[in-house]
Amino acid sequence: MGLTIGVDIGGTKIAAGVVDESGTILSTSKVPTPPTPQGVVDAIADAVRSCGEGVGAEAVGIGAAGYVDDKRATVLFAPNINWRHEALKDKVEQRVGLPVVVENDANAAAWGEYRFGAGAGHEDVVCITLGTGLGGGIVMGGRLYRGRFGIAGEFGHIRIVPDGLLCGCGSQGCWEQYASGRALVRYARQRASASPDAAAVLLSLGDGTPEGVDGRHVSAAARQGDPVAIDSFRELARWAGAGLADLASLFDPAAFIVGGGVSDEGDLVLEPIRKSFRRWLVGSRYRPHAQVLAAQLGGRAGLVGAADLARQG
Ligand SMILES: [Zn+2]
Repeated sequence: MGLTIGVDIGGTKIAAGVVDESGTILSTSKVPTPPTPQGVVDAIADAVRSCGEGVGAEAVGIGAAGYVDDKRATVLFAPNINWRHEALKDKVEQRVGLPVVVENDANAAAWGEYRFGAGAGHEDVVCITLGTGLGGGIVMGGRLYRGRFGIAGEFGHIRIVPDGLLCGCGSQGCWEQYASGRALVRYARQRASASPDAAAVLLSLGDGTPEGVDGRHVSAAARQGDPVAIDSFRELARWAGAGLADLASLFDPAAFIVGGGVSDEGDLVLEPIRKSFRRWLVGSRYRPHAQVLAAQLGGRAGLVGAADLARQG
């Protein structure tokens, strides 16, 4: 199969792109994400048509935030769009006239990194995506591991702190409450509130108050050497690395790939993640260590991965 189309459904926009066999995006189109499930189907069809017009693409892969069933057809549940047993595959196939594969967005991103990014050359990789929350994907023996019901790799809701912070999922102490973009902002606000003088750079980037600090401010301040912003990244990294050590006990991968907006900061966040990983890895001195690598495809991973999964059929 030659060209396929990948679709990435984000909170604010839906991106579609024509992707070739080497993982290169040849053309893209973007539309705003509508508020209703029917609107989303229409928007996906529009985006696919507008980037795929006349190029002879053969299949469509859709990366969607949510639980996607074992047939890769129905979104069972999604936290952001009001999908409850949404038959996305059938609906989009009817609209675009091409075979459609639906995949969880973090799984699609993991597959993209495995095929064309940081995971290339390895057969066993585990990806975490540190975005607003924490997503995960597992590739074992060169295959995307989806579990019996399609829901494997939802690492964000592993309970890493018993009776810890309340999570949007209704549980407490979930990993994503401690290692995610949202957690980073919380750390920065707490620290800026406790030591406003030390956080001068950070606070000057927002409206001057700890509540006015957002994720972009923390990144920018860290790059300028703001100690509070750097310490906030380190706190996030400590939790991320500790969780990866647990995942090594479960999966023993060759490499962990860390993606999502937070990973854009490179070694500022990757080095402390590696350090924490080594600290918490059981039998650390007596075993080979998985590499902890930065993702390479950035925001394209989900789209490229979804297109490649559609190609694989
Ligand atoms: Zn949770």
